[in-house]
Amino acid sequence: TGAKILVSACLMGHAVRYDGKAKPLIHPALQRWGEEGRLVTICPEMSAGMPVPRPPAEIADAADGADVLSGDARVAEITGGDVTGGFLQAAENALDLARETGCRYALLIDGSPSCGSGFIYDGSFSGSRRKGEGVTAALLRQNGIEVFSDREIGLLVERIEVDG
Ligand code: SF4
Repeated sequence: TGAKILVSACLMGHAVRYDGKAKPLIHPALQRWGEEGRLVTICPEMSAGMPVPRPPAEIADAADGADVLSGDARVAEITGGDVTGGFLQAAENALDLARETGCRYALLIDGSPSCGSGFIYDGSFSGSRRKGEGVTAALLRQNGIEVFSDREIGLLVERIEVDG
């Protein structure tokens, strides 16, 4: 059997985003991996007890290179609340699940302060993007799990064809 893939729950059609919506990705590979039992679905934020809906949150103090895992950036809600601890817990939960289930890959929705792997928002809640990654994506990568964004599913397909 092939390697397992950790997947963002909102990408699998679960309405777990901060705005109460899903962001389903329709792709034949995803369908096939599901049938093969290779998908491990998690919403890291919900696993850490965050409600749906919840206030939008962004990584603050997000000068390039600032990083929540090393303690020099924090995660803030638009309402001002500091939710750094919850986001760190979310990332730990995702890593624990990935390890327990043997996931070598993760397919996560880009842009999220948890799941983003290519870009995130800049902390100003103005819709401005910057290159960077969310807390869960960063922790998974630090622990050797290859993270792909939803837009990179084609790359993940190629990767899996090479290494299983
Ligand atoms: Fe989707 Fe990840 Fe946000 Fe959960 S934490 S709603 S899985 S992007």
